[in-house]
Amino acid sequence: MNNENKITGIHHITAIAGNPQKNIDFYVKVLGLRFIKKTVNFDDPHTYHFYYGDETGNPGTILTFFPWTEHGFKGKRGTGQISAISFSIPLSSLDFWMGWLTKNNIAFAGPLNRFSEQVLIFEDPDEFELEIVASNEEKRPGWNSGFVPKEHSIRGFWSASISHQKTEMTETFMSGLLEFKKVNQAENRIRFALVGGGPGTYVDLISLPDQPRGIMGVGAIHHIAFRTADDKTQLEVREKLISKNFDVTPVVDRNYFHSIYFKEPGNVLFEVATDPPGFLVDEKPDALGKSLKLPEWFEPVRSEIESSLPKIIIPQ
Ligand code: ZN
Repeated sequence: MNNENKITGIHHITAIAGNPQKNIDFYVKVLGLRFIKKTVNFDDPHTYHFYYGDETGNPGTILTFFPWTEHGFKGKRGTGQISAISFSIPLSSLDFWMGWLTKNNIAFAGPLNRFSEQVLIFEDPDEFELEIVASNEEKRPGWNSGFVPKEHSIRGFWSASISHQKTEMTETFMSGLLEFKKVNQAENRIRFALVGGGPGTYVDLISLPDQPRGIMGVGAIHHIAFRTADDKTQLEVREKLISKNFDVTPVVDRNYFHSIYFKEPGNVLFEVATDPPGFLVDEKPDALGKSLKLPEWFEPVRSEIESSLPKIIIPQ
């Protein structure tokens, strides 16, 4: 056994959206993320699966949605859930984002001081909580989205926050099996980071003892995936979880990464996803997100699937 970390950061976060077009317009035009893949929910091919990310969909930048449309069951915010997604920008981009959100009629709270960063808090069109975290720790290069200037582009995730009525079991799990270290604590927030730290490696655990449990549905976050280098390190994580009696799925092929799923002790769905093969496996960089991509087992029924999906327009 070596001491190298098998989990290196956040890979992607997946949430449930309502109207697909509103979702696209917000994440592409307002947040300036790139729409990098249009596919379907492999477990329910009559629902889209949208992927947003940076220019090429690097792990640590990927936000994905199942848009259940406006008829989908509405979720409820609460404990036992991922309660906020935080994007990362350089500190020098804070003023731009305050002006940009205002210009786009997005009400926000902040900037608030949290540990050593500045935080803007707002909601997406389905009312789940988003944050933009501005800090000097953010050194990833910018990229040109066509909507947000390169130097101010969202670089990827800063963190995800998980809320629990009781945090103890999740704390033990994060720092034991998942190799996170507790790096900071203030009021009801405990910050965990992976070795090396930095944007994209943080998870905040929030204690809300009196808050009722959330409900999965539109406007709720479905799961978080942590990244691992390859199939070998993924199997090592899987073996470790199984040895501690966690119920872990077999490896599932998600076309763009390989995944295992399990629930952490507080019942939030976690995934460990491999960095390879990535989003360029079936589309060239300049064609990302342009056509509906289906896994080969759905190709025979492509026209039936395509006609059942709502029409959408990707802003260019
Ligand atoms: Zn996932």
